[in-house]
Amino acid sequence: FIVIPADSCASLMSSIPIVNKLFNVHYKVGKGAFSSVFLATLKSSDGRKKFALKQLIPTCHPDRIRRELQYLQQIGGKDYIVGLELCLRHCSSVVFVMPYMRHDRFAEYVQDMTVDESKDYIRALLTALRRVHKFHIIHRDVKPSNFLYDRKNRRYLLVDFGLAQEYHIEKNITSRESVEAHGTKRKRSNENNVSLQPDVAKRNMNKCNCFGKSKVCVICLKEPQQQAPRAGTPGFRAPEVLLKHVMQTSAIDIWACGVIMLCILSGSQPFFRSPDDCTALAEITTIFGSKEVQKCAQKLGKKVIFSENLPGMDIKSLCIKLKQRNKSMMYDIQNSIHKVPSDIEYPKEAYHLLMKLLDLDFRTRITAEQALAHPFLSL
Ligand code: ADP
Ligand code: MG
Repeated sequence: FIVIPADSCASLMSSIPIVNKLFNVHYKVGKGAFSSVFLATLKSSDGRKKFALKQLIPTCHPDRIRRELQYLQQIGGKDYIVGLELCLRHCSSVVFVMPYMRHDRFAEYVQDMTVDESKDYIRALLTALRRVHKFHIIHRDVKPSNFLYDRKNRRYLLVDFGLAQEYHIEKNITSRESVEAHGTKRKRSNENNVSLQPDVAKRNMNKCNCFGKSKVCVICLKEPQQQAPRAGTPGFRAPEVLLKHVMQTSAIDIWACGVIMLCILSGSQPFFRSPDDCTALAEITTIFGSKEVQKCAQKLGKKVIFSENLPGMDIKSLCIKLKQRNKSMMYDIQNSIHKVPSDIEYPKEAYHLLMKLLDLDFRTRITAEQALAHPFLSL
């Protein structure tokens, strides 16, 4: 009686027998919440071409698998987006066969990327996102472990469309209008599969007087929970996701790209630790200040209360300070000045772009197309 670990090469080969017929599976190269990824080569070839076999966990919802497969087929294989070679299924087991790309760990390069290297990296990520967004698809999980970087060969690959979803823009509707015109909007949005619910707090304003107070009254507690998509990774969630705004767009990927750029410019990762959405909002507030976050919330028809007024920070000096601190920490660890990266000074355009990516208001946040034309990347 042999126990085969559920995420081992042996388990992959036993759950989908054809994998064993076609491939030599070498070892596991990655593991996410919903899959295990293995390096494999074709038995019928000289073994030089490498493949990544992504085995989805059997409890993965079929809709999720269908969407990931559909998006990979639709947009993959171009502009630094991973392509799909084959999809194999046996009973409830599914495997995506994709080209393999060796890659480095973010923690290993985030501290010492040069300005030119950072430009190339961010440009590649935005090029991939521009293509994703052209198809009206939100990736929803942009983060370093889903944007692979082969430092030696300067290659990039956006992977993992497991949380991706299509979105529809309702043009010229502000959140206030959507709340006010809620009757008609809800009907229309249902056709688009987006539910636009009135803001609970606003609705209750007329019925009770707890609005804006820290204690929620009984009437409000009985109200149905507001439903808004929040799939993604803590630390990379945009303000509109944290504030449960129902209408989410491709701008949430741009925010995540901004967080990655913040990590690079400050040489820190993770930048936001965010154990929960409330703490995530507090972390964002520490940087942007309570007034700005309140303004952003108001535009989304929400109200956020802070126990005290927090001033915002100057992002540029924060990044420089953090980079300096991390550098001295590296010196302590390695005890060798030769291994410490030299001072990397980013031009002011870099911080300008960073602020555009991290615009709290998703309606004015820069798009991938616009960001690619920004002086930091285009010059
Ligand atoms: P999950 O949905 O479980 O997060 P991913 O698609 O993100 O799965 O894959 C998990 C990890 O596997 C990635 O972070 C990466 O390290 C590795 N990986 C995924 N695709 C490839 C690929 N095409 N080439 C090399 N490694 C890959
Ligand atoms: Mg992943």
